[in-house]
Amino acid sequence: MRTLITGGAGFIGSHLCERFLAEGHEVVAVDNMITGDLANLDHLRTNPRFRFIGHDISNSLKVKEKLDNVLHFASPASPVDYLEHPIPTLKVGALGTHNTLGLAKTHGARYLLASTSEVYGDPLEHPQKESYWGNVNPIGVRGCYDEAKRFAESITMAYHRAHGVNTHIIRIFNTYGERMRLNDGRVLPNFMYQALMGEPLTVYGKGDQTRSFQYVSDLVEGIWRLLPIDYHEPVNLGNPAEITILEFAEEIRKLAGSTSEIVYRPIPQDDPKVRQPDITRARQLLGWEPKVGRDEGLKRTMDFFRRKLGK
Ligand code: UDP
Repeated sequence: MRTLITGGAGFIGSHLCERFLAEGHEVVAVDNMITGDLANLDHLRTNPRFRFIGHDISNSLKVKEKLDNVLHFASPASPVDYLEHPIPTLKVGALGTHNTLGLAKTHGARYLLASTSEVYGDPLEHPQKESYWGNVNPIGVRGCYDEAKRFAESITMAYHRAHGVNTHIIRIFNTYGERMRLNDGRVLPNFMYQALMGEPLTVYGKGDQTRSFQYVSDLVEGIWRLLPIDYHEPVNLGNPAEITILEFAEEIRKLAGSTSEIVYRPIPQDDPKVRQPDITRARQLLGWEPKVGRDEGLKRTMDFFRRKLGK
């Protein structure tokens, strides 16, 4: 089995490379390093079944070896990153998805698109089921990511319907773990960095907005189980344990044994007020549910950041 993973040098992509290699696959990782980091792959590069291609998948790619699976994970994924790179974000969601679907079609490979809970926008339905169509501002600052991923889902379904490609779509809810970038601007690295460095924790708005955080190994397990199944509709993958951002700040501060104060900053435009996955579909289809709670997952992640920061 040979599996191509775009965004392979990213946080989630690198965990996927690791898992597919561990399962005996040959893995071809593709990344243009816009937010990826080759260091995430250091421990895999000596493996003879692993190959890395430095390439922007928004431009077409030909691969000579036969591919059995194509997983499209390349994209800036943190609000700070896609605000900084709106055009590459739109391109990789649109052109990158087109190119990877083309690869899957040429090779007769299974295809899996990494979509996102952002397709639900600032949701008017709570928790979010896959049947919900979402509430997205197409011209807001988050629109570049949300609409690119909505287009990506649309073209993926079109390739399935028109060309019979064996496609899969997952909608990933907030995911965390080792190899997140300390400076990616997301809430968890921000709070952990701030707590460990003794700086104030920056809560945006009143902190009453909610998120539901999933540990990365649970996501990888869900992907591994979905890929061999012939199911083409989107599947939410996330941990339904919901928490307010203020509570999250307090939890991280306590875990770090930090005395940092909490300060309040303006809420970014179109910041979703609530987010929680309904995972009934994944439970029934995959017999899957998250195994790692925040108590364990946050500890492991903080140990990772402690090592990075020498704290
Ligand atoms: N957030 C915060 N402080 C920060 C970074 C983020 O309060 O330093 C909030 C942000 O406004 C949002 C939530 O935390 O409500 C999650 O933000 P993140 O950027 O991690 O991802 P999102 O879930 O919005 O895509």
